[in-house]
Amino acid sequence: MSAVLAVADHRRGELRDVSYELLTAGRALADDVGADLHVAVISGTVDDFAPKLDRDGVDTVHTVDYGEEFDHGVYTQTTVQLATELEAQYVLTPNSVNGLDYAPAVASRLDVPIVTDTVALESDGDELRATREMYGGKVETTVSLSGPAVVTIRGAEWPAAEGTGDATIEAFDPDIDEDALGATVTGFEEVAGGDVDISDADVLVSVGRGIDEEENLELIHDLADALDATVSSSRPIVDSGWLPKNRQVGQSGKVVTPDVYIAIGISGAVQHVAGMKGSETIVAINTDPNAPIMDIADYAIQDDLFDVVPALTEQFQ
Ligand code: FAD
Repeated sequence: MSAVLAVADHRRGELRDVSYELLTAGRALADDVGADLHVAVISGTVDDFAPKLDRDGVDTVHTVDYGEEFDHGVYTQTTVQLATELEAQYVLTPNSVNGLDYAPAVASRLDVPIVTDTVALESDGDELRATREMYGGKVETTVSLSGPAVVTIRGAEWPAAEGTGDATIEAFDPDIDEDALGATVTGFEEVAGGDVDISDADVLVSVGRGIDEEENLELIHDLADALDATVSSSRPIVDSGWLPKNRQVGQSGKVVTPDVYIAIGISGAVQHVAGMKGSETIVAINTDPNAPIMDIADYAIQDDLFDVVPALTEQFQ
């Protein structure tokens, strides 16, 4: 039986949510082509990770106990060896910083095409049809590929796999050519504010250029505190240096899918909406009724944020 190989992502001792979404995408693709779903987890506490990845639809979890952290060379060599051994038709990785680091190298070594940042996949066994967004989500394009391929999937586009499976858990011992590793990762240092991952937040209070001045951000932090929420922003706020880059939502920032997204003084440019349109409930506070964010908001408050935000804070304190 042919195989689909999905490679999990983890960071600082935790499997990332997209790893579970990868299982759903991988299972559906495996069903399309009548294949088994194999999942690899490379480096870190692989014995802890393996049972977590044993969810419905997974046939085999391969644990690769090699190093503690992500390493381009280790991931590339391991994925190539495992894909070759399994004769995998498709190799799936998250479209994350790590995934995008090694997936092209895997495709190159396997001499197969790669399609990145996919939001939908289907295959009839010969032809893979992969959908991607272009121009900041304004259009969708479907790429058709024949034969094996490497595919990276966008986070928050597939539901996370649930349930407990009955996968076989196997250790895989790659033959790592240390001379070919090139660079060795000695550790990671988080940038300031790196403790916050906005893509994990349930409630985001997001601020845009309508806030006018850096000192006015205090209003936003007060509301976030009252709601026990996390602060995020549009790009101009980050470009101005008022918040760190890891708070930026959008095409060149992070994709978020909170339960509630409160967009304050944000117009809703396509590049911003590309990062938050999957939010369950969108609340927009904007003086301009024609701002694009008002069209996608579940609750649109057409008013001055300097009146609305303090009133909301008072209400929830
Ligand atoms: P504006 O568009 O200036 O909107 C400010 C809003 O505040 C307006 O709608 C206004 O009506 C409202 N407002 C003003 N005063 C008040 C008030 N007192 N009360 C209530 N409302 C008020 N942007 C991102 O956000 N994320 C990205 O990842 C991103 N990536 C990009 C990538 C590329 C390649 C490019 C070209 C652009 C990208 N952008 C991104 C920028 C994007 O195009 C917009 O410029 C940006 O999102 C606008 O941010 P904003 O909504 O905060 O500001």
